[in-house]
Amino acid sequence: MRETKMICTMCGKEYLGEHFRCSCGEPLELIIEKKKSVNISWKKSGILESFSDLLPELKDCGSLSMGEGLTPLTKIEHAMKDGLELFIKNEAINPTWSFKDRGSYLAVLDAINRGYRNIGTVSTGNMAASIAAYGMRAGLKTTILVSDSIPEEKISPIAIYGPRILRVNGDYDRLYFRSLELGKNKNIYFANYDIPIRVEGSKTIAFEIFLQLEGRVPDFVIVPTSSGGNVRGIEKGFRELEACGLSNYIPRMIVAQALGCCPVHRAFSSGDNQIKRFARPHTIAHAIENPFPPSGNAVLKILRENQGITVAVNEDEILTAQRQLAKRGLFGQPASAVAFASISKLKNEIGIKRALVVAVLTGSGLKYPAVLKEQPSIVEATDIDSLQDLL
Ligand SMILES: [Zn+2]
Repeated sequence: MRETKMICTMCGKEYLGEHFRCSCGEPLELIIEKKKSVNISWKKSGILESFSDLLPELKDCGSLSMGEGLTPLTKIEHAMKDGLELFIKNEAINPTWSFKDRGSYLAVLDAINRGYRNIGTVSTGNMAASIAAYGMRAGLKTTILVSDSIPEEKISPIAIYGPRILRVNGDYDRLYFRSLELGKNKNIYFANYDIPIRVEGSKTIAFEIFLQLEGRVPDFVIVPTSSGGNVRGIEKGFRELEACGLSNYIPRMIVAQALGCCPVHRAFSSGDNQIKRFARPHTIAHAIENPFPPSGNAVLKILRENQGITVAVNEDEILTAQRQLAKRGLFGQPASAVAFASISKLKNEIGIKRALVVAVLTGSGLKYPAVLKEQPSIVEATDIDSLQDLL
């Protein structure tokens, strides 16, 4: 058994055993004892086997896996003309149509391995559906805490899996921390956004990109950013590839946010080390509308350490990018379009010319069809006898 410990991303305090967060309030990161020689390979059996040398030792005895991860890396041809070699990592090809399934799969396995019978999460979107799917599939009592302002259209894609859904009145940001406290007392494993094992799930995105590019490392990876757990995971993945000698470079991370809720972009642009709560967040990119990201300070640290960049785009740019992506056959939710919209900013405002860029399409556009009323749908009508003229 390889030794594992946890280390605080900010104060460096170390922990052994089961912990979700540092006593200083900042997120923890898993450190797994290094093997002498590390091998990663693309195995159809799934992410756990493909990347076992760099993941915690978890057993999937009850075939919990539904084929999460191992998603396509799709080339965007037109970008070549502009000097960019651009790929989209399509996380919509996951069992519940978002990248969250990687972390949910590992978190539910971790909960089972630790003997939990109850699992939960705090979310109103992709993660709620993902934890509901994996929790219920594992036969665990699954509780989803949502804010009391959640619209009905967001409830039904969670409710279909059959978890207990509790609308909670009160400060939604506080709910993240409160649920972790209560989980300890009530023996419920709260697999919230950026707990260490979820970050391990996001790491596998980096490993796959590395394999799909046949050992090349991108210059930039663009990640739509909400809680910050995903960008932390992807950066950690590339960092570990470098640490074990498989690569010699860590890509610069690009945190992409909507102008209507961009706490990381705002703090980073002002040179702050601490995230401030973003007042009155409002964006069509609901999946990344987190006004006070729990991994925000840790993300700022990563950005400073690896010459990262932040980009924020407005609502029109998001909708335009969603259509542009669709014209290339990829239908992402608005949060994912934020990453694609950031590319033109990279070229025009930041002056990046020749580069290998990967943008992460985090979730499917079919998840929240209500948003689509913002997009034009042009439909012509005719009768069968006039069809010939029209064609
Ligand atoms: Zn700490």
